[in-house]
Amino acid sequence: MKKEEEISGLGDEVRKCRKCSLYKWAKNPVPGVGSLDAEIMFVGEAPGEKEDEKGEPFVGAAGKFLDELLSSINFKREEVFIANVVKHRPPGNRDPKPEEVETCWPYLKKQIEIIKPKLIVCVGRHSMARFLPEIGSISTNHGHCFVKDGQAYMILYHPAVGLYNGGMRQTLTQDFKKLPVALKKINERNKK
Ligand code: URA
Repeated sequence: MKKEEEISGLGDEVRKCRKCSLYKWAKNPVPGVGSLDAEIMFVGEAPGEKEDEKGEPFVGAAGKFLDELLSSINFKREEVFIANVVKHRPPGNRDPKPEEVETCWPYLKKQIEIIKPKLIVCVGRHSMARFLPEIGSISTNHGHCFVKDGQAYMILYHPAVGLYNGGMRQTLTQDFKKLPVALKKINERNKK
């Protein structure tokens, strides 16, 4: 089956998903967007209000900042894939519950299997905790790369923290610069 068909089938499954109660409050499911051949996959936390309205991840204020950060390293949004650990908006933008993250995991796992990103970027602590629960706090791990079971991960603060905090904005900008460097290293290692 082609990647397009697999992703669209997955989108249909997410649309019909009733495995947890989040669908009851959400306007739209937010499965993910981007290139199916992306080398980098960004995984955020959960859709917010704007994402819920549009059915697309990172289209609100944090998303605008994410777009700026991407363009600061000469990447376009269309070149990467963007998803969340949870595909429906938690009411009132509360944190997703651990059981919601686990219930939604097969969808994210399938997206990763289809896209096969060289680098997964954990955007924020919830995403980091899903992939690398053993590494501890985001404050000590942001800007660092990890390899687990053959998959490379980079940890970044969530762009929402940079919206009203100049210091965090700068940290995120600096950490973002490490993404192309990490990707280059991965590609060089794969050539050997
Ligand atoms: N925050 C997230 O983690 N994901 C989105 O899609 C939007 C905001």
